[in-house]
Amino acid sequence: MIDATTELYGVIGNPVRHSLSPIFHNRALRRMGRNALYLAFEVVDLEKALSGVRGLGIRGLSVTIPFKAEVIRLLDEVEEVSKKMKAVNTIVNRGGKLIGYNTDGWGAVAALEKVLSLEGKKAMILGAGGAARAIAYALKERGVEIIIGNRSIDRGRGLAEELNCGFKPLSSIEEVDGDLLVNATSVGMEPHGTETPLPRVPFKRGMTVMDIVYRPLQTRLLHDARRSGCRVIDGLQMLAYQGAKQLELWTGKRPEVAQIRRDLLWALRRLSR
Ligand code: NDP
Repeated sequence: MIDATTELYGVIGNPVRHSLSPIFHNRALRRMGRNALYLAFEVVDLEKALSGVRGLGIRGLSVTIPFKAEVIRLLDEVEEVSKKMKAVNTIVNRGGKLIGYNTDGWGAVAALEKVLSLEGKKAMILGAGGAARAIAYALKERGVEIIIGNRSIDRGRGLAEELNCGFKPLSSIEEVDGDLLVNATSVGMEPHGTETPLPRVPFKRGMTVMDIVYRPLQTRLLHDARRSGCRVIDGLQMLAYQGAKQLELWTGKRPEVAQIRRDLLWALRRLSR
């Protein structure tokens, strides 16, 4: 029941009307027995929005496009690795102090570790945007050897230099010879669901391929990888794990990830109707 003690959480972004977060977070909070509500806030002025969070005692926020980088300078504290990622996707309000975290990289690592050990592995990450940065830093922290592939050479090389790792322009990739490949570009996302970032590149049989695009759930990249005998991980796994980590940061309790994934599948089907 919503009453005078209900805790308020939400997502800030713009646009945010398409967000799956209110659906799965509200369901998870209910299952966790919290008297809590999670809403979507389409924000125009970020500074005013954060004053509102402080003033109203909103307990926690997810942060999405376009505020993940801009929000950093407005917070009281930011976790070290999120500073390196230059992106915050989660805010925890601890007694009026707003603390920033990034659960995207954590979510990607958790989705991968569910099916393989990352120790001593070699990964190619496609992309050099916000999600790719978070994933690259999180994998590097796990000791994974990384190579970045990106369309824009300056951006890709810049990230590779920060990480002290290799770089290849996307168009010159002829083979993927590591243990895992992560697509962190937006290529293949609806309405361009027939596209893939690597249209002519053979996959090594037995390697793991994760696509973080989740609309459509079965991207062309995953389809091609499966046909080549690779193990595939779809984008909902990362989304479910990163959301579960947000809930843990806010409540101190760990929710059931498999159930969050089921809720996300339900929400996706509902949206595509
Ligand atoms: P950004 O805009 O920060 O980065 C986009 C990346 O995609 C860049 O590397 C860009 O390359 C590349 N790219 C875009 N269009 C093309 C193209 N036509 N050909 C080649 N490369 C292209 O986005 P994000 O990093 O925030 O998000 C990337 C994707 O990840 C989105 O689809 C998003 O929905 C998804 N995502 C999924 C999450 C999950 O939990 N599953 C979490 C976060 C994001 P360039 O540098 O050359 O522009």
